[in-house]
Amino acid sequence: MQGYIIRLQRVKDEDLILSILTKNRLETLYRFYGARHGTINLGYKIDFEIEHSLKSSIGRLYDVVHLGFPWLLEQDRLRIWQQFTALFYPHLKESEETGSFYFMLLEQCAEQWARQNPKRIAIEAYVQLLRHEGRLPDLEHCFFCEHHIDDADITLIRGFQYAHTSCAHRQGVCATAVKELMQHNGSLFLNDDEVDQLWLTLTEGF
Ligand SMILES: [Zn+2]
Repeated sequence: MQGYIIRLQRVKDEDLILSILTKNRLETLYRFYGARHGTINLGYKIDFEIEHSLKSSIGRLYDVVHLGFPWLLEQDRLRIWQQFTALFYPHLKESEETGSFYFMLLEQCAEQWARQNPKRIAIEAYVQLLRHEGRLPDLEHCFFCEHHIDDADITLIRGFQYAHTSCAHRQGVCATAVKELMQHNGSLFLNDDEVDQLWLTLTEGF
């Protein structure tokens, strides 16, 4: 079985409880510490087996193989990847059966991660997630005051909802660029400052 580690919790000594997003499920598994075990970390894609036992409600992780990506050696890309993958845990923790969408989204992102600014990839992926969940923003009205928004005064808040800059107390973003993002998943028209801003908004949570 393969999956992405989206949460890694240290328990007594060096044991770990891992939450792993597989193709269709979120697995929570126990990993006993052992000197022969290789290092595993948040965000890593691994191949593994699960051993169930009558003595414990939580399965044991074994036969772990780390499936690396070349960009893991780049500190910045790895850090942003770990922040991004960690966002999936609070979003999915209530569901055991996740469907394949979230795993496939991470597969697609991991594939592209070295090719451009990873914050752009994350932002574009998040819009795909919003679309999948039917949560794309209302492009006409402010989330806070519910009044009409015109193109001169748009910003995005958590969940990428639209708001007036004055209602959200945030820097504005270019309306055309945001529309392109929402309608075509493209971050092409966002400048790097806007990408940084939307990335920070994204890290507030899905
Ligand atoms: Zn408003």
